[in-house]
Amino acid sequence: MSSLFRFSELGSRMQPSPIRELFKMIRQPGMISFAGGLPDPSAFPVGPFADCADVLSRDGREVLQYGASEGYPPLREMLLAMTADRLGYEVQPDELLVTSGSQQGANLIARVLLDPGDLVIVEAPTYPGTIHSLRNAGARFATVPCDADGMQVELLPEIVTRSEAETGRRPKLIYTVPDFSNPSGACMSLERRHRLVAFAAELEIPVFEDDPYGKLRYTGEALPNLKRIAAGDPQVIYASSFSKVLAPGVRVAWSVAAPEMTRAMVLMRQGEDLCTSTVTQALVAEYCRRGHLENHMSHILEVYSRKCQQMQLALNTHLAPGSATWNEPEGGFFFWLELAAGSSRELFDRAVGEKVAFVPGAAFYPGDEEQIGEIHTGDLFARLCFTFADEKAIDEGCRRLGRVLGG
Ligand code: PMP
Repeated sequence: MSSLFRFSELGSRMQPSPIRELFKMIRQPGMISFAGGLPDPSAFPVGPFADCADVLSRDGREVLQYGASEGYPPLREMLLAMTADRLGYEVQPDELLVTSGSQQGANLIARVLLDPGDLVIVEAPTYPGTIHSLRNAGARFATVPCDADGMQVELLPEIVTRSEAETGRRPKLIYTVPDFSNPSGACMSLERRHRLVAFAAELEIPVFEDDPYGKLRYTGEALPNLKRIAAGDPQVIYASSFSKVLAPGVRVAWSVAAPEMTRAMVLMRQGEDLCTSTVTQALVAEYCRRGHLENHMSHILEVYSRKCQQMQLALNTHLAPGSATWNEPEGGFFFWLELAAGSSRELFDRAVGEKVAFVPGAAFYPGDEEQIGEIHTGDLFARLCFTFADEKAIDEGCRRLGRVLGG
């Protein structure tokens, strides 16, 4: 039967997000979910945030109007100060862009840089939302394996040379989540950070540093962002978000990139959403102006640090020795388990039967047919989010997981 809608090539080949598909299977009473990468809703600052709605009475005529594509000026002022502190140099207004979630940032970066067939280097495993945006822009992927210290940057030169030879194209972008990666929880070592920044400058390949979790460190010393190491040099495109430190529902995030890159992203977004909702930008700005963010951050650092320890303890208690291995994360949202044997997808089906859910590792790798060079898959891995479930559920969920994993 012919369809009224003659979808574009892209429109007809898009795949649903594997994680969102899994969610349909786990919506059952009694399910303990470690699957979604969600903040703890009981920690949301509902009262103080609602009070900030006063800003509508004060500045309503401006806030309810269309806003600038670059972002709402009072929020931009705040972000310039915040990012200067975080990135260690005076970020210029023409480097900063407010986006509707850092998902939009990833999408804009993909669309302004990539033509169909272009090559992008990603760490493996990596965040599927960014893979989705890159894929929609026609990317093919060369993957760099990760270990406990993040992307194995020392393998990069060889991977770039090999993938270039195979495709006849120079990679356009390197994508990484150096701090408490989604899904692996790994934090890139200082030595690798320096190496990556130097390598990117030498080869003139921009690096997209995606940093939604960097401020959520529970133990250990903070390490400098790649953008900080690059000291304002243009090879690093930095993005961060209010989603994990405040609430994902606000859809407010930002990027810091060279002026020409930021300008291209602004022009692209003018054909997308014009601007991020001025109402939520004003609420977030007011929330920060009243000094609530610092207090909230101390609160969630305490809550998440406890939950992280709780999951470490529960996994040690309930998983048979040798059935899986993992590193205790120093921050972020996730544990990344490597199973001694079997398939995490098959384990998922049995786990759902026992009413506990996680995300099987395959979701965090580009598809086999999209990868250039050595193909990596996540069959042995499982991502467990520790921030969403309450502490009792963390213990009980790990007990159920131990039961399905067996000895
Ligand atoms: N990057 C990473 C690594 C993430 O984990 C997420 C959210 N899960 C995002 C980007 C998207 O965040 P936002 O809500 O700001 O769009």
